[in-house]
Amino acid sequence: MIEQNPLRALPSVDKILNGQAGNALVERYGRGPTVEMLRTVLDEVRERLREGKPGIRDTTELAEIVADRLETAYRPSLRPVINATGVIIHTNLGRAPLSTAAQQALLEVAGQYSTLEYDLEEGKRGSRLTHAESLLCEVTGAEAGFAVNNAAAALVLLLSELAQRREVVISRGQLVEIGGSFRVPDIMTQSGAQMIEVGTTNRTRASDYEGAVTPNTALLMHVHASNFKQIGFVESAFIAEMADVAQRHNLYVVDDLGSGALLDTESFGLAHESTVQESLKAGADLVVFSGDKLLGGPQAGMIVGKKHLIERLKRHPLARAVRADKLCLAALVATLDHYRKGDAVEQVPIWQMIARPLDELRGTAWRWKQQLASDLASVIDGESTVGGGSLPGATLPTALLALTVRHPDAFTTRLREANPPVIARIADDKVVFDPRTVLHDQEVALVNIVKNYLNS
Ligand SMILES: *Cc1c(COP(=O)(O)O)cnc(C)c1O
Repeated sequence: MIEQNPLRALPSVDKILNGQAGNALVERYGRGPTVEMLRTVLDEVRERLREGKPGIRDTTELAEIVADRLETAYRPSLRPVINATGVIIHTNLGRAPLSTAAQQALLEVAGQYSTLEYDLEEGKRGSRLTHAESLLCEVTGAEAGFAVNNAAAALVLLLSELAQRREVVISRGQLVEIGGSFRVPDIMTQSGAQMIEVGTTNRTRASDYEGAVTPNTALLMHVHASNFKQIGFVESAFIAEMADVAQRHNLYVVDDLGSGALLDTESFGLAHESTVQESLKAGADLVVFSGDKLLGGPQAGMIVGKKHLIERLKRHPLARAVRADKLCLAALVATLDHYRKGDAVEQVPIWQMIARPLDELRGTAWRWKQQLASDLASVIDGESTVGGGSLPGATLPTALLALTVRHPDAFTTRLREANPPVIARIADDKVVFDPRTVLHDQEVALVNIVKNYLNS
């Protein structure tokens, strides 16, 4: 095939496009991008040949190079990764993976028409706000509730409706930054509420709230925060004291729980995290929590509590602007259903991960080590974290696969370049992989990727 002049032996763009490999590329990436990439690669080959460097073997190799380049160039930037960090609710990695039932529910409404805003009995317009409400009430014990886009939106909505041009009393210890960019004081300002700070950064008493009440006070607000200690310590007891003050002055208590656990974290060896049920029972009028933290569902913000307040929030113009979409609602309802049925620990991935016994984790780490069959691998003790602003500082004992490689930084960089990318940690100069957050069906890929890199 190779002629005397290798430049002339190069196939034409048209010839490649009309071949089988070219057809496949056009089908996958479209004609325009394929032609452009073919030209680019051919130009590069010509350049190399002119410089007396080796060109390409044949059309097949050319098509492979082009396919590779197109794959990299048009790969979506949002794609799945393997989370081997041991941080269960990893905000940068998409927080909570969904249960199988939630994924199925989401898929079902994704490709078909649905009852999103349709009342089948009446044959007319219905409300999207009804879908999650009865389940939310059932699992939290609230009178009413609905879901919006996320918890930050829920806060803006409720402050706009209940506290615009009015005062909101909040502890100095709770003026926290959430998720790296959203600060409680900013939310207050955005919502037109005037923030009245009480107490100190590390101590606030119920009497501090009472002392700040004026005729223009709308709410007493409690925000779940790590660096905050109340007199009385147990958060729900403190909510009860706040509710007492609120009742005397005809005010409302709003509790921003953030992670919003519905299960008792203590039974998994973790610190106690106030549950939504406890907060409501203690007297919070409205409780706000996220859908994708300890609930283990899709990104959403739940507002549950007093029916007359919830009805006001539903009617606010902002409710439309921050509404949850149908994919979210489908996944959310399926997630809540696990709590109703009582199988959340078995079915909701973040709870499965929290509940995974140390023996099992150690077994997995040892299995990986055996599969890698490398002297560089060992199994060591470590700690997983819950993450997502929930249970700050709380850790769960785990077993880690550790690799003693010469350049841990370079190694983790290569892991991130893999397909799928693997996100690992470096601890004590070792690259460590926590089995707790690696989904079962990702294990084979993980081991293969690591094995490949160790052998290259
Ligand atoms: C995470 C968090 C929020 C924000 O939740 P999003 O659903 O991410 O908007 C609000 N308040 C607290 C206390 C949080 O921890």
